[in-house]
Amino acid sequence: MISDGFIFDIKRYAIHDGPGIRTTVFLKGCPLRCWWCHNPEGISHANELMFFEYKCMHCRTCTHVCPVGAITFENNIQHINRQICNYCGICSEACPTGALMLVGRGITIEELMKEIEKGILFYDNSGGGVTFSGGEPLFQHQFLREALKECKKRDLHTVLDTSGYAPKDVFSSVLDYVDVFLYDLKLADDEEHKKYTGVSNNLIKDNLRMLVDVGRGNDVILRFPVIPGITDTEKNIDGLVEFVATLKGKGISEIDLLPFHDVSEKYNRLGKQYKMPISKAPSREKLKHIKERFEEIGLYVKI
Ligand code: SF4
Ligand code: SF4
Repeated sequence: MISDGFIFDIKRYAIHDGPGIRTTVFLKGCPLRCWWCHNPEGISHANELMFFEYKCMHCRTCTHVCPVGAITFENNIQHINRQICNYCGICSEACPTGALMLVGRGITIEELMKEIEKGILFYDNSGGGVTFSGGEPLFQHQFLREALKECKKRDLHTVLDTSGYAPKDVFSSVLDYVDVFLYDLKLADDEEHKKYTGVSNNLIKDNLRMLVDVGRGNDVILRFPVIPGITDTEKNIDGLVEFVATLKGKGISEIDLLPFHDVSEKYNRLGKQYKMPISKAPSREKLKHIKERFEEIGLYVKI
């Protein structure tokens, strides 16, 4: 018996998360802490409260309904005391403008499959299917495996958007139910990987090697977040090119470059600290250069 899953979004008609038109399920919880994470609402495996300041009309309904007094106003500016908030969601339900939103909800396999089945016509007509993303979807591996199995029972194409950071046995246990892996590669140097993501890259490299060694290299699309001053350095590109070159000839043929974009606003809405020291996207020249470096080892590179 599988317990419920915990998700923060279901995106319909997604066209950038694998082939065709897809439904993308975002599972909550991730063991990594990447400085540039563009889905900070997916990091914690718990409810969170988002505040959209531009929607707030300062009616103070939230202050009156909050049972623990977590919301106050000072000089017409709202403050949420997240230390005492119990994430009951009463304020978000009462807010007349949608300025407060509780992020995260439990879902059963049956409920999830009903949502997924709504898109079957689009998947069939476009060669699409279902993508599991996050957070790190393998963080809830039991629920993920069950959902993948149910997709396969319905003959649906499945994509796993993963950091690759999961124990080997956990990673192995989903392979039979995944058609395509969107697999992140971030930093080649382990110390830098630890500094900017909070974890070692050994497991990530090992799982990728295992994937190609069992003959699944053709089903892997690498993804490289291009983060100015962090991942786009010549030293890191050298390291990644060298690593990926050892996997060439085992099926891996594509890498997608994901240019950094500033998401500080999302962090503000969650009351979280945004660690990125810069806000500028990588230049066109830099992306072209990185593209050429991966093309030199025979990869197809998409930006
Ligand atoms: S209830 Fe909503 S609109 Fe009213 S003050 Fe609170 S956040 Fe703003
Ligand atoms: S989620 Fe509940 S406890 Fe937290 S601020 Fe809103 S009403 Fe108060």
